[in-house]
Amino acid sequence: MAKDYYDVLGVKRDASQDDIKRAYRELAMRYHPDRNKSKDAEEEFKRINEAYAVLSDEEKRRQYDAYGPEQFNQRYSTEDIFRNFNFEDIFRNLGINIGGMDVGGSSGDIFDTLFGFSGGRRAADMGSDILAHASITLEEAARGTHKTLMIRHVKKCSRCGGSGAEPGSEIIRCRACGGAGTKKVTRRTPFGVMQTITTCQECGGTGKAFEEACTVCHGHGRVQAEDRVDITIPAGADTGMRLRLRGMGDYGRGRSGDAYVEISVQGNRTFTRRGDDLYIEFHIPFYVAALGGTVTVPTLEGEERLRIEEGAQSGDVIRMRGHGMPRLNSSARGDEVVSITVDTPRNLSAEQRELMKKLAELGGGMDGYTGKKRKFGLF
Ligand SMILES: [Zn+2]
Ligand SMILES: [Zn+2]
Repeated sequence: MAKDYYDVLGVKRDASQDDIKRAYRELAMRYHPDRNKSKDAEEEFKRINEAYAVLSDEEKRRQYDAYGPEQFNQRYSTEDIFRNFNFEDIFRNLGINIGGMDVGGSSGDIFDTLFGFSGGRRAADMGSDILAHASITLEEAARGTHKTLMIRHVKKCSRCGGSGAEPGSEIIRCRACGGAGTKKVTRRTPFGVMQTITTCQECGGTGKAFEEACTVCHGHGRVQAEDRVDITIPAGADTGMRLRLRGMGDYGRGRSGDAYVEISVQGNRTFTRRGDDLYIEFHIPFYVAALGGTVTVPTLEGEERLRIEEGAQSGDVIRMRGHGMPRLNSSARGDEVVSITVDTPRNLSAEQRELMKKLAELGGGMDGYTGKKRKFGLF
């Protein structure tokens, strides 16, 4: 169930922008990770910012009101929500200062770390981010693992160092813009002659050109490349988690974007994962169900003995605390949830059949059963 943004900020649905600002300011100061070291502060801080990013934007708020939390979250990714949300500016405008630190620097970094991208910030010379994928088994997700990936991305050409010029070739002024890096475009409009200044397409704004283009990148300054990277996937990783490889994205004019590796955890024959808990269906013979006993169930580590109480029924659930998946960045673990299915015996031997009949007679026979529980019956 998606959390309601109004509840997160503790404001009414008809709250004014001032109310929303005030509520956000107070909560952001209380839960800022630099200030609040409690376990849930980080999650709460994320929620507060997400709620504010939506409710402080009239258009997003309108959409949210129209669709409701569930639908809104299906329609908009976290990146969509934080588009144009400049964390540093917001903190500065609201006069939020954490522990006297330079809010711009530290909070921006925190935002990066929490959300995996910078709110609203992207330098013009920065290349694009790219997305890669890594598939791991449930066991690997439980222990944490290392993977080697090949990342295909655009890199700075090493021959020319990104200049596009063949080494030794003379650098000259761009012919198209005369070295200015910009061009004036004059347009005739109904309101008169308009002049706009645009970046020179020819030199990309550098104002420079060269006599001879680099033989490797043909003047682009960039090349397609494939690089081997080793990544560490933390214990407790789940499908959809993204790891950021700083600077491993595409190279722009001056700087590379980042690569994100999206993790997917493969299905497992034995366990079904729900969050940190592992679910397993375990079959027991009916006599174990009736009399109780000790069984051996598979766990992530191997096996574990489990006590079945007398009178166990199909559908009974036994929680093995701490036998689930490790929680990310924590020493805590989820549970293994064992769901019992009682198996009815088949292919009885003659002797078993006789004993079973005896058992049935003691319980009132095999026929005429109404489905109601009998007070002294066996079943
Ligand atoms: Zn080159
Ligand atoms: Zn130019």
